[in-house]
Amino acid sequence: MNTQEYSKLALRTANDLGGRLDNIMHAAMGIAGEAGEVIDLVKKTYAYEKALDDKKLIEEVSDILWYINLLLAVMDRTWEEVFDLNIAKLEARYPDLRFNADHAINRDVNAEQKAMLVKALDDQDSTLSAGALR
Ligand SMILES: [Mg+2]
Repeated sequence: MNTQEYSKLALRTANDLGGRLDNIMHAAMGIAGEAGEVIDLVKKTYAYEKALDDKKLIEEVSDILWYINLLLAVMDRTWEEVFDLNIAKLEARYPDLRFNADHAINRDVNAEQKAMLVKALDDQDSTLSAGALR
């Protein structure tokens, strides 16, 4: 299943609360709630030595995915756009796309934001160019 197929199917199960902000709030609260479920599972392993339930952990990750998908849809964005923006940001932080503690600690936030902005503008240009061909 690709991201478009997933997004379309998952959105069929979303409750449209009507307003854009209402749907953004729903998604944001859902992401936070599901992230809480992830940390609770990990806490039980870390603090109480309970075996980590990998299946439950993946289920909670998929729940976070569902809410992120909702947020992207409300914002009229795609997974691919977010993937590209994130990689642009990481390339600005780690020029060879490899972890480096020095680069992780001494971030150039302005360069990262500029890289994402340039990527977003590139995508906008591509959209405009593609539109001009139709
Ligand atoms: Mg859950």
